[in-house]
Amino acid sequence: MSSSPSSSASPSLSAYGWDAGWADAFAPHAAEGLLPGRVVRVDRGQCDVVTADGTVRADTAHVTPKDPLRVVCTGDWVAVEPAGDPRYVRTYLPRRTAFVRSTSSKRSEGQILAANVDHVVVAVSLAAELELARVERFLALAWESGAQPVVVLTKADLVPDPVTLGHLVQDVEAAAPGVPVLSVSAALGEGLDVLAAVVSGSTTVLLGQSGAGKSTLANALLGEDVMEVQAIRDIDGKGRHTTTTRNLLVLPGGGVLIDTPGLRGVGLWDAGHGVGQVFAEIEELAAECRFHDCAHEREPGCAVLAAVDSGELPERRLDSYRKLLRENQRIVAKTDARLRAEIRKEWKRRGAEGRAAMEAKRGRAR
Ligand code: GDP
Ligand code: ZN
Repeated sequence: MSSSPSSSASPSLSAYGWDAGWADAFAPHAAEGLLPGRVVRVDRGQCDVVTADGTVRADTAHVTPKDPLRVVCTGDWVAVEPAGDPRYVRTYLPRRTAFVRSTSSKRSEGQILAANVDHVVVAVSLAAELELARVERFLALAWESGAQPVVVLTKADLVPDPVTLGHLVQDVEAAAPGVPVLSVSAALGEGLDVLAAVVSGSTTVLLGQSGAGKSTLANALLGEDVMEVQAIRDIDGKGRHTTTTRNLLVLPGGGVLIDTPGLRGVGLWDAGHGVGQVFAEIEELAAECRFHDCAHEREPGCAVLAAVDSGELPERRLDSYRKLLRENQRIVAKTDARLRAEIRKEWKRRGAEGRAAMEAKRGRAR
């Protein structure tokens, strides 16, 4: 998403992604004398907001409802009071995208981690064997946020054979319809220009397992060692890093990078829609199934199973799809009482149907 400085009342904010759309959305607040700004960090009731007048610390007490998804987060565009001690955030602009994750099992709500993200870079290390199911899981989350995912295969220097590298890229491409797949080596400085061009002018987050090379990518994109990359310590080759206090940083080529600590240990969070996008070809096939509610288990006229039989659809993809759907359903069921009630009703209905069918059978047998 490119910014257009001419439309902006605050030209310096364009570096942070301010554009004509945000300016329009902000107009009523500007009329009230409030200042626009982007949240670069949040902690306990306070946030740091970059405004045209510099960074201000603002209190979020007025915009902290009970719903954890409606709490101000990094990446939000907010309206702050022009003066006061403390200065309050009055509101935030409607989000274009939102990154949400499930919190620890004790708390059943979701937690908002980042707002208004355009690109989700899923970092996948080539140092270890590719685990496509894991990539698919990250992609489901990425799609679910509303942002465009991009897979970056890191540490490409560890796969010196270009044919092998090409195959790995193809394998990931097959598991990621609609997602660009790049390979980069921060060690050799290869592929970084392509990645920089992809994310230029937009808001980007980095996702991926610990040790995947996210901090290294962030440093390469930012052009400085903002993220401290420490030497490999543990046996499984996971690097450790500490982040600076700001969680939203301007890229030299335009655009910003959001790196909140919470984004690392992501879980699925009601990502049913995202799962559908990761497995777009399966959903497309499913439209051809004879029964619209086909579970692709052993139904007659199942186009998905037919595609597996013909070799068109790898069985691994179908397994992964089912697994993610089930996982998602479990999470949703755990958290959404209404859905839970619906599932119970469905069980009851099926139970009743089952009993009726049994009775009918018995009736016939008699
Ligand atoms: P993070 O946990 O995802 O942030 O991963 P880091 O960026 O800390 O990187 C983990 C480890 O991978 C570190 O030891 C890095 O030096 C190493 N690493 C990162 N990028 C590359 C690369 O392009 N090539 C190689 N060989 N190692 C890399
Ligand atoms: Zn089917």
